[in-house]
Amino acid sequence: MSSDTPLIKFLDRNTPQISAEEVREAARVQFDLTGTFEELLSERDQNFDIRGENGDRHVMRIANIHEDFAVIDFQVRALLHISQQDPSLPVPKILPSTRGEELSRITFGDGEHLVHVLSYLPGQLLRDVDECAVEAYRNLGAAVARLDLALRGFFHPAADQVHPWHLEKCARFAEHVNHLESPEARKIISAVFDNFEQNVLPRVRKLRHQVIHQDAHGGNVLVDPKNPVNITGLIDFGDMLYGSLAAEIAVATDSAEVKIDLLPDVICETAAGFDSVLPLDAEEIDLLFDMIVMRNALSATITASRATLSSDQPEFMESPDLYVDTIEALLSIGRDEITRRVRHACRFPAFCPASADDAYSESREDDLIKARHRLLGKKTNHFYEKPQHFEYARGPFLYGTDGRRYLDCYNNVPQVGHCNPHVVNAIARQAAALNTNTRYMYSSVIEYAERLTAKLAPHLDACVFLNSGSEANDVAWQMAKLITGNDGALIMEDAYHGITEVIREFSPAHPDTVLPPHLKGLVVPDPYRGPYRDDEPDIAVKYADYAARAIGELAADGHGLAAFMIDSALCSSGIPDVPDEYMRVVEKHVRAAGGLMICDEVQSGFGRMGQWWGHEYHSVKADFVTMGKPAANGHPFGVVVTSSDILNEFVEKTSFFSTFGGNTVSCAAGNAVLDVIERGRLIENGIVVGDYLREQLRELARTQPLIGDVRGHGMLTGLEFVTDRESRAPATEEVFALLELMRQRQVLVGREGGFDNILKLRPALVFEKKHVDLMISALDDSLNQL
Ligand code: PMP
Repeated sequence: MSSDTPLIKFLDRNTPQISAEEVREAARVQFDLTGTFEELLSERDQNFDIRGENGDRHVMRIANIHEDFAVIDFQVRALLHISQQDPSLPVPKILPSTRGEELSRITFGDGEHLVHVLSYLPGQLLRDVDECAVEAYRNLGAAVARLDLALRGFFHPAADQVHPWHLEKCARFAEHVNHLESPEARKIISAVFDNFEQNVLPRVRKLRHQVIHQDAHGGNVLVDPKNPVNITGLIDFGDMLYGSLAAEIAVATDSAEVKIDLLPDVICETAAGFDSVLPLDAEEIDLLFDMIVMRNALSATITASRATLSSDQPEFMESPDLYVDTIEALLSIGRDEITRRVRHACRFPAFCPASADDAYSESREDDLIKARHRLLGKKTNHFYEKPQHFEYARGPFLYGTDGRRYLDCYNNVPQVGHCNPHVVNAIARQAAALNTNTRYMYSSVIEYAERLTAKLAPHLDACVFLNSGSEANDVAWQMAKLITGNDGALIMEDAYHGITEVIREFSPAHPDTVLPPHLKGLVVPDPYRGPYRDDEPDIAVKYADYAARAIGELAADGHGLAAFMIDSALCSSGIPDVPDEYMRVVEKHVRAAGGLMICDEVQSGFGRMGQWWGHEYHSVKADFVTMGKPAANGHPFGVVVTSSDILNEFVEKTSFFSTFGGNTVSCAAGNAVLDVIERGRLIENGIVVGDYLREQLRELARTQPLIGDVRGHGMLTGLEFVTDRESRAPATEEVFALLELMRQRQVLVGREGGFDNILKLRPALVFEKKHVDLMISALDDSLNQL
């Protein structure tokens, strides 16, 4: 700091000492105010409470003689601006002088002072409330945020004034720390100054800035004495400056009037109240602890410095010890704990560490696992020996609470990348505008249905909206039965179609599923492991014959065929390389028996297989296309697309309605997913990157004998492992171990197939070749370690 002068000016209070007589006269002449006059406490000005005979009450503020015009003009202009922007905010209103001036120059005995008059706000100072409920701080946070919203478009040249309480300029006070008496206190406060300057300030400077009040501590906040959680006034605009919004919260939680043990709650409530009006950024919350600690360090330093400069300490100034105690208490609770609690109070997602240094402790993870077992059941599936904990994701990566980044080659729900910002914004914006159901008219569901059906064959021209793939399959099945009058169905022998009671029966992949007589499971057309392999002549027809036989058996048992339900990706069958023509031949058998085609595109839809729909890849005509998982990139959304004739008949007979199906938010998400796929040409990308992945895997197979087969289309790849390429003996145990080894190398994959010896790779369509390279190298390493 070049000179102490400006600071001394602030530290030395030097308040005006104008006589009551002079003030009374000026009030009468300049403002037409008479009545009783009472001097109020003030840090730097001289203020009078004036009660008129008619009950009016005003405060006359006489500025310090050294005060610049711009500094007071700043306050007056801000108050005028606020009363225009948010007239009902409980802040003082300016009373112009009899000459119409909002800010007057009045000469008293000691010279010319700037004077303005404000309406008096009723209430009791928050600082003076005994046993103040923390709820008051929630209301205070909200009131300050409202004030800042009103100040948003306001600026004044004096907003950049030299200001002792400006957190971002606090370094000027670092050398004043020696005014603190106790060496221990000096050590603590110096460390706070150093940390703030070096580590915190560069980040604070990047936070949202505007003109802020910056003084809403309990000495400037009025509450209703009858119900002291209600804020009736925010006063004293003398500390306004251009600063960060987050600083408002640091000041409002000033420890002077808060019992230390309540401070964490007060911080949370204030932040949550502020956030409810003016949502906070994650970075603002992350810096709040440091700013609160710095504010206390500044308070300690300024109060200690003032005490040495002048005996004339205002009676409301606390002793520096209070602030030092507060800092110690906060540090002992810890930055992480306070930040975690504030995030939680504002409903931010749980914190995810950016590096291994901040990883969650083992005991915290263990507690969570225990709670998970207790609350969600002991048998919840979590793939790994110890569940992998994530709290954050972006694009192709998930971020663990161990501080590590994991490449996601497994999850096909975030089709356009985890937390795709376009989809996230669409969800948030729609949720903030309207969230209702299809009993009402709204445009997004129509737009979505229009866009979706335009991507399908012309006869697929109507949609039923639901909440999951299971529901979509359930409803498609209900329609197929109704339309055909039959109740028999074909499925794959290890199919998975969902969890409703009916659809569980269609899912022999569930270990407990027993096929009822009206369902027949077909042998999987798997040329690598099935009964007909490789170059077997007429392989498609031979596999399709299983369907013809099954239809005959159903008929013999009195079950006419209603539908063939088929996952176009055959995911639960291990993504076999289905022989060309197989699906078309089966379709012929199905249609000949009067059955319909339910094409389950929960896995294969939205470009997964290098085309919009998997059934198009197999060149079959769908009567129902069912969709889920990727439709809304993670938001629950299910769809059945069929013909309008079928839909109309079904709805007429059943009065079908789903409360959440097709709600405005789901449709906004669905539309955004289509936007991202179309605008980013992601299906084309998936073809290029998917082909590259399989190429690299085949290359790897030259040196890794466990790799038996590589197959797939677009961004869907099956990788089958065998202990012996000749016999094709499944490498089940090795694949179990591989999953763990890949996780250790920060790559997520999943296993599949009857022998659990197949890796299914379904990365997001935003995957790039560099991500493939990461995956290949992790796989190579892991296989070498097996
Ligand atoms: N069909 C297929 C092919 C699936 O893979 C799944 C889910 N794995 C479903 C249907 C069921 O979808 P959901 O879990 O959304 O009910």
